[in-house]
Amino acid sequence: MGALRSPRPEFKDLIPYSAKDVRVEVMLASNEHPASLPSELLAKIAERLPDFSFNRYPDPVATELRELIAEANGLEAGNVLIGNGGDEIIFNLQLAWGGPGRTVLDMPPTFSMYAIDAKATGTSLVQVPRLDDFSIDEKAVLSRVGEGDIDIVVVSNPNNPTGGLANESFLIELLGATDALVLVDEAYFEFSRHTMRPHMARHENLVILRTFSKAFSLAGLRIGYMLAQPDVVSELLKVRQPYSVDAFAQWIAAIVFRERPAFEQGLSEILRGRDQIMHGLRLIHGIEVFESEANYVLFRTEHASALWRDLLRNYSVLVRDFSRTPGLEGCLRVTVGTPEENRRFLEATDEVLSSRRAAGYFCKNADGAKASEH
Ligand code: PMP
Repeated sequence: MGALRSPRPEFKDLIPYSAKDVRVEVMLASNEHPASLPSELLAKIAERLPDFSFNRYPDPVATELRELIAEANGLEAGNVLIGNGGDEIIFNLQLAWGGPGRTVLDMPPTFSMYAIDAKATGTSLVQVPRLDDFSIDEKAVLSRVGEGDIDIVVVSNPNNPTGGLANESFLIELLGATDALVLVDEAYFEFSRHTMRPHMARHENLVILRTFSKAFSLAGLRIGYMLAQPDVVSELLKVRQPYSVDAFAQWIAAIVFRERPAFEQGLSEILRGRDQIMHGLRLIHGIEVFESEANYVLFRTEHASALWRDLLRNYSVLVRDFSRTPGLEGCLRVTVGTPEENRRFLEATDEVLSSRRAAGYFCKNADGAKASEH
């Protein structure tokens, strides 16, 4: 027949999550770890690889990894669900707790997958925008949740891409103010060292999300996990794809988790690199830098998208352009890389902005003057 029936009309305006897949020398756009696995772990994996059964289906619930994570968090295996990245868990939560006639609340600017998954699962989305300093509008969230129709609340903590943490007292109040499932997304927990885990016993609506993609150098393998009450885990088991977490990823993640002290040094280097970037950016004329508890730094400058383009074209440095995202006008986000990558990014940024200033590109209006104060 040669024709194609039209797809679901609700998805007409849905824009796919775009991670720029450009090969560059300095990749600082996706909040990944700058290094692959430590060499002693690679050697262990290589040694044991011949015994790995590639021919068998994976364990659907990743029992070994689940038990390791449960034990490390003082929980039972039934409190843990492993996912194909944190992304799969966010999606499955919206399948199980959202859907037509149900509502999720998020606090933009924040991680865009919450809204994309809401659309994909037919869940209504309520957005309570953050204040100008990117802190949560606590009163507005509590008041909106008080209306009683919210089924899921999502808080990225620290928030991606702005970098700050929510007030713990607010999160506790929120948990007590609603029976909605409250997803606290701790994808950057190993950098912030801040967790809501101690509040799980008192609040059965608390769900915590973590990932191996950042601190544990495993973004390429797709492993994330959720800590929650067993009833929440059971609901997600109903909707998830049985073999979404492949056997190889389970095997490597278990090795990595057992050997997690081997990552401490790399983590300290990333935290030092974050200071290097924050300090370096503050020295550059015309840049406003936002505090970060994660492995990335958000900053604002005039001509942000021109800076983004020049960094890529002339210096092979890729950062993330948020300048067209509502609330993030003029903002770029840089992931902390190796000290050398951070230096290249800082030097390139300084050069681009200095030459733009020399060429008279910067406007002299009030906003321009304000942006230059920092
Ligand atoms: N939550 C947040 C806030 C993130 O930034 C990310 C990664 N971009 C994820 C969840 C998902 O990470 P992954 O699927 O790689 O585990």
